[in-house]
Amino acid sequence: MPVSGSGIVKMLPGRRPCKECGFPTCFAFAMKLASGGTTVDKCPYLSEETKAKLLDLLAPPIKLVTIGSGENKLEIGNEEVIYRHEKTYYHPPGIGLLISDKESKDKIDEKIRKIKELQFPWIGLTLKASLLAPYFESGNKDKFLALVKKVCQSTDVPMVLISEDMDALFSARDICADRNPLLYPITKENIEEAIPKIKEKPSPIGVRGDNLESLVPLTIKLKDNGIEDIVLDPGSKNLMEAIRDETFIRRAAIKQGFRPFGYPTIVFPCFIAKDGLKEAMTGSALINKFASIIVFSDFDQYSLLPILIQRLNIYTDPRFPMGVNEKYYEVLNPDEYSPVLITSNWALTYFLVSSAVETTKIPAYVCVKDADGLGVLTAWAAGKFDGESVGAFIKRCGIADRVKHKKLIIPGKVARIKGALEDALNLEWEIIVGPKEATGLGKFLPEVAKKLLALKK
Ligand code: SF4
Repeated sequence: MPVSGSGIVKMLPGRRPCKECGFPTCFAFAMKLASGGTTVDKCPYLSEETKAKLLDLLAPPIKLVTIGSGENKLEIGNEEVIYRHEKTYYHPPGIGLLISDKESKDKIDEKIRKIKELQFPWIGLTLKASLLAPYFESGNKDKFLALVKKVCQSTDVPMVLISEDMDALFSARDICADRNPLLYPITKENIEEAIPKIKEKPSPIGVRGDNLESLVPLTIKLKDNGIEDIVLDPGSKNLMEAIRDETFIRRAAIKQGFRPFGYPTIVFPCFIAKDGLKEAMTGSALINKFASIIVFSDFDQYSLLPILIQRLNIYTDPRFPMGVNEKYYEVLNPDEYSPVLITSNWALTYFLVSSAVETTKIPAYVCVKDADGLGVLTAWAAGKFDGESVGAFIKRCGIADRVKHKKLIIPGKVARIKGALEDALNLEWEIIVGPKEATGLGKFLPEVAKKLLALKK
């Protein structure tokens, strides 16, 4: 439960305001601390005990856990709300692919290839799965370790190492400790044996309980031993249980501030669903229901893409329209005589315009002006797509150095900015009013391209 400023102020020294924290009173400091605007160490008069208590109270309700290392590391947790519309969700779940050491060499190679190659460009982003989960299923430790080595050498994606056999699990960890893998499962049966080994080379760990209640003593014990990079698995056996458990964990962590459940979670549609379609549906439901890592037994482009788009939609900040970066984009390798279009940076607008250009098969530049993610007409009405600001953007984006003509196509819906835009560009550019809808480019763009081609000759 978030701590309030008035709750914090009771813990402060309450001296005559010395202002050493940079605030006029202890109360002002407390209010700022509660909202995350300053840090505990700014008050030099707090005892170590109070500091620790405050840090605990101010910690996010769900701990941030990092799996993997380098550019591809996966960060999960640190969520602040139950419902997305209350604020936003921050860290999208990692989508993982299980690789059993019982699978054939060809299947293992295929799965490694999938994790590397199944990537989808999507409105300025690249959507992809992000984890591999080597699974000790064969009973042959050497086979499992060979699989872990192979995965390590072939990819740099984060890994979830899965083994009920502790010796195999920690031997696998030793192979790739520098890659910060998630070790799974730590249970009530193996926790005593595991704790010293985890402390030897700290790694995030997946804790599995038989049910929700049984997780509590495990996470408390780990925390008491200084192990806090924890991911929870309440051992749900089907989709209904998984939704119930995930919801309970999220509510307990955020509404009640129940620390033993203040960690991200892992779910295994690969183990709890019976076939491919049910697995995809289970994973899809658990994207909505708070899972932080979702492991599938397999996927292809047809089952993975909808999952990734759903994840993108759920984890997009609802407070801001989805936008693409301000710059000029090259569509189909344009040259110095290719048409230049301009639009606003609402992701959907950019996607429609660039797709319409692609359909014409005419290479072109699409200049995208930052308009806080608004569509063209709304941006114009809000004063974010007027002649002056569009002109300033054209000057600074560098498109003038890429083309040998000065003809700029503006969306037909904002034809009225033509005069102001010409003025802003010192009458150096010819402003051409394009169609009102992107679909009109099919007929419009070939005509413009023909005229530009004539300039070339
Ligand atoms: S430094 Fe500490 S004691 Fe001094 S005003 Fe700030 S909060 Fe109060």
